[in-house]
Parts: sequence; structure tokens; C-alpha cells
Amino acid sequence: MKAIKLRIYPTLEQRRQLSREFAVRRHVWNWALERRSSAYKTDKTSLNAVGLSRELTRKKASDTSLCRVSSTALNNTLWDLDAAFQNFFKKQGRYPKRKKFGAVNSVCYTLDKRKKVFRDGELLKLPKVGSLRVVWSREVPVFPNTATVSKTPDGRWFVSLQIDYTDPVAAPTTDKQIGIDLGLTCFAALSDGEKIYSPKPLKQGLRRLAHAQRATSRAQRGSSNRRKARQRVARIHRQIADQRANFLHQQSTRIVGENAVIAIEDLHVRGMMANGKLARSIGDASWGEFRRMLTYKSKWMGRDLRIVQRFERTTGVCPDCGLVGDRLPLNVRSWTCECGATHDRDVAAARMILSTARSAGIYDPGLANKPDDSGASRDNTGWDEGVKAQHISPHGRGQRVSRSQGARLCA
Ligand SMILES: [Zn+2]
Repeated sequence: MKAIKLRIYPTLEQRRQLSREFAVRRHVWNWALERRSSAYKTDKTSLNAVGLSRELTRKKASDTSLCRVSSTALNNTLWDLDAAFQNFFKKQGRYPKRKKFGAVNSVCYTLDKRKKVFRDGELLKLPKVGSLRVVWSREVPVFPNTATVSKTPDGRWFVSLQIDYTDPVAAPTTDKQIGIDLGLTCFAALSDGEKIYSPKPLKQGLRRLAHAQRATSRAQRGSSNRRKARQRVARIHRQIADQRANFLHQQSTRIVGENAVIAIEDLHVRGMMANGKLARSIGDASWGEFRRMLTYKSKWMGRDLRIVQRFERTTGVCPDCGLVGDRLPLNVRSWTCECGATHDRDVAAARMILSTARSAGIYDPGLANKPDDSGASRDNTGWDEGVKAQHISPHGRGQRVSRSQGARLCA
């Protein structure tokens, strides 16, 4: 089970309906809590969600406000209360409390798989609310079980889709292997020659942010202009964070989906390029987040993620013949090796990362053809499963490629 959270933009009418759902949900929670407590006090009987659901149906005849909201959402409220009581009985929580006005700002719908209420990237339709405008920033691979709509205190709306996602079958079978070099001029270079650039709005956002921050520091302390300028900075920060998360999700999902083996460098040993404080801090944050996404998505999809220590020489090493040439100045984007091959600087680095991951005494081409008896790799890429396990944890010692091994490779 996992949840996928997406931004939504409900219309005015939809916002009204959702607020109504929140209010009725709170009302039903408090009513059900009362019923359970008094039933227990008066005749020591315990009322569960099933019994309460029957009572609720009878109550609907007299209370029309209950008919204006979705019945699955009401039932889910009863089950939530049940869960709260279960936690209390197991001494994992306090006795359930009444919900105060405004305390309920989410509503959970069960989606009916037989109905046309969901299509990934296209449609999400909720009872009594209708089709929602959704920002499909992430892939939803299967039909969700439930959809929980929530409103944040600052007025943004989200839907959280809960899906069963335990099957690695969702990832297509492939034997492709990829090395990734993260950088500042281009976000990532892949060993197959592809270069991924940060989206343009993100770069523009950074410029706007720098501008807004300067405006804040110029404004007088305690003035309303200063307050407005600070709100502007906060808003731009949030926009950038959202855009960055979308971008990182899209790229990491695609890379993990397309490759069986993914090699990435250990960021902690990465020598940083001098490139302005802001760009650098944003770059750092993105790389860490990107690696985190690659790690957990690799786990979901049954992929092999390997983290290699950065080899000493980053530039000028030919991935074709292994010749260590002169160091390349930062402005040189490509070079031609003595063997005649011309290399893009970043792509060559990505290829070196992949071959370093392979050369760390783990890659054994013989394994690829070995009969499958000792847990040899399922995807027949020649990686030994036994060692593989060590490589999945980002903190394990086994994954590090020693300097000497890296150097041997370059020699
Ligand atoms: Zn060469």
C-alpha cells in the first residue's frame, strides 16, 4: 500500500460541496462517538461500525443534510472511529475525542472499480463532487482503492490516492543498465548519451526568488512592505519546491522504469563546483532528493541501485580505452581521446560511473549464463544477487567502490 498525493483545483461549487462533506463528517463522528459511549454506559453493549451504519441509514430519513453528502464518505467516518477505538483498546491511543469546529478538513472516498471514475492522467470523479481538475504530476499505475481529499490551512487542496503497489510486475522487464552523472550545467547526464536539463520555469523561479529576497532585505523592518515581500518570497519558495518535486518524480520514475541496473555516484564525496551559492544549495537539495527517490522506487520496482564512490579523476578519462588524459578545465564540454573517440564531458563521466559500479568485483559476465540455482540474477544481467543485497542500502559499506579499484579502472 502506498499513497500518491496530487494537487487539485476544485471549482467554487466543488469547494462548497467538499466543505459540506467535512462538516457532515464531523457531525457524524461526534454523533457516532456519543452513541457508542452511551450504549456502553447504559447497557454495556458495544456498537461497532456495522451497527452504527444501520442506525445512520435510519437517521437519514429524518436528517436531510446527511443525504446531501456521499454515503461512502460517511461510512468511512464510522470505520475511522472504529479504528480509533481499536487503537484505544490496544492501548495505542487515547479515548476518541469529539471533533471541534474546523477540526475535520479531509474526506475519504472509496472508489468503485466497476465505475468509470478514474483514468490515470485524465479523470478523477468523486460522488456528489464530480470530475476534479487534477495536476497529474505523478503516475498512478493502478486503479486506486480510496481517494482522500484534504484542504491545507493556507487554502490549497490535495487528493491522496491509496493504491496497492506491491507487485514489481508493474515495472517492465528490461536488462538495460544506466550510469547517472549529476551536475549543475545539466541536471543529469546518462551513460547512454541522454542529457536531462532542469525545466526552464525552475531556473526562472530561482531568478525571481533572488530578486524577491533582495526586495525583502531592502524593505524597512516591521513595515507592511516587508511583510508583503516576505510572503512573496515564501510563495516563490513553495512554487519552486513543487516544480522541483514534479520534475524529480518524473525523471526518477522514468529512469527506474526503463533500467534494471542504475549506478549513481555517492554525493557526499562529490567535489563541488563553484557556481553561486543559491544554485549550489538548490543543486545539493535536488541531488539528495533525486537519489532518495531512485532508492525507494528501485525497491518498489525490484531494480538494482548501486551507489559508487566518486573516482578520483572526474574528467579526461576515456570510457572507451581507459586512457587518463589531461584534466579538463570547466569550460571544456567535450574532448577527443588519443584513440580517436570524441566524448561529451558529462556523458563520459556517467559511463565511468556505470563501469566503476560494474568493476567493483561485483559484475561477473559468467553469472549471466549460469543456471539459476544459487539465486543468480533474475534479470540475467550478470549481477550477483548475493552482493546485490548490500547494494540496495544506501549506507551499507559493501556498495562503496574503493579508490584503488577506481584507479585500476582508469589506468
Ligand atoms: Zn580513448
